[in-house]
Amino acid sequence: MSLDWLIIGGGIHGVHIAARLLGDAGVAPERLRIVDPGKRLLARWRTCTETTGMSHLRSPSVHNLDLNPMSLKRFADKRKKRDRGLFAPPYDRPALALFNDHCDQVVETLGLSDLHIRDRAVACSVDCDGVGVRLSSGRELAARHLVLAIGASEQPLWPDWAPRDHARIHHVFEPGFDGWPASRETVVVIGGGISASQVSLRLLDEGHQVRLVSPHALREHQFDSDPGWLGPKYMDGFRREGDLDRRRALITAARNQGSVPPDVRRALRGALARGRIHWHEDDVVELAVQRDGIELRLASDVWLDADRVLLATGFAPQRPGGSMVDDLIASASLPCARCGYPIVDSALRWHPRVHVSGPLAELELGPAARNIAGARRAGDRLVKAIREAQSPGASRQVAPR
Ligand SMILES: Cc1cc2nc3c(=O)[nH]c(=O)nc-3n(C[C@H](O)[C@H](O)[C@H](O)COP(=O)(O)OP(=O)(O)OC[C@H]3O[C@@H](n4cnc5c(N)ncnc54)[C@H](O)[C@@H]3O)c2cc1C
Repeated sequence: MSLDWLIIGGGIHGVHIAARLLGDAGVAPERLRIVDPGKRLLARWRTCTETTGMSHLRSPSVHNLDLNPMSLKRFADKRKKRDRGLFAPPYDRPALALFNDHCDQVVETLGLSDLHIRDRAVACSVDCDGVGVRLSSGRELAARHLVLAIGASEQPLWPDWAPRDHARIHHVFEPGFDGWPASRETVVVIGGGISASQVSLRLLDEGHQVRLVSPHALREHQFDSDPGWLGPKYMDGFRREGDLDRRRALITAARNQGSVPPDVRRALRGALARGRIHWHEDDVVELAVQRDGIELRLASDVWLDADRVLLATGFAPQRPGGSMVDDLIASASLPCARCGYPIVDSALRWHPRVHVSGPLAELELGPAARNIAGARRAGDRLVKAIREAQSPGASRQVAPR
């Protein structure tokens, strides 16, 4: 099959970019495919968010997957009389269920499920005419343009002290996670950010004993990064910064990692004040597996007993994509900064045939690149590049035919 566009990754980014290519750039559905191993598009998003027990998104309603940012608000207007709690203040943050239903509508309206190839890309090669992609099934695909929208959700961050193959020690974001306790247990949750807090509150709600071990005090921030990073306020300076090490430092400093929004902080503080969750601001230095449970030693020399340990320690910071992306870089001499991340142009092109979105676009789109807002920005850049290439007298470099 020879395509115009092949998107690797059917998460938030891959789905939004597919929507933009079809709806805003005039790409014909039969010329586009999305490769993702999930049973359905957005499968990783759904499992990660459902595991946390989050009720609402952290981001506002205009950050959604449809072409028009107001689409989610309009979708909700049709239900308002029936449902309460569709949005949480401030900034109209949509309920997770509403957001997911709206995603379903986007997928259905554009017929994206029909374009989903349920498989994993294992190798890519590029030349000046196009891209070749081999799937784990052995199938080969060819396309004129590739979008790498592979996200970071397949690389949960495991602390060194945590064994990976124990039936009662899990990372809540590990692919195929099935470690949620069924009956009443004592669970130690590790992590200092929004997911650790939400997982602890969900466990408490379900009747478990919860101990939350966090490496730092609660940090409150409404968003993952200041909204100024979505516009000229901070992005002008970011773009002017030519030194990519300094850009990386700006991204790291701007991301409110390990932080919680005010409503989650309130809920957690309430549970701590009532002694319903036990909080340890500490680091784990040792874990011992006993016949009847797990023991954790903290840096303060306190020992904690647990039936189960749930890691909510986020995602590993290294460039996602594993050996597939490593090999692509080597074979096509793709440029990377010292942090390992792609050096791309303003159209998010890493190569005339390869575009990126999500974490891989971070050095161009800044601290919000991984978020839904980042997917929208990536969509804007791609659509703009395609339209420019189609306008009379344009260079033929990205023209999708
Ligand atoms: C619990 C949680 C809550 C969040 N809440 C918000 C929020 O409220 N607002 C916000 O803006 N952001 C939020 N985020 C951040 C961000 O929007 C999400 O992480 C989002 O899922 C990122 O989308 P993505 O498409 O980049 O990555 P992913 O969701 O990781 O999707 C990438 C897909 O690519 C697939 N893939 C990877 N490698 C290959 C391959 N070789 N071949 C084929 N497919 C491949 C993966 O299996 C996956 O399905 C949240 C993140 C989490 C974890």
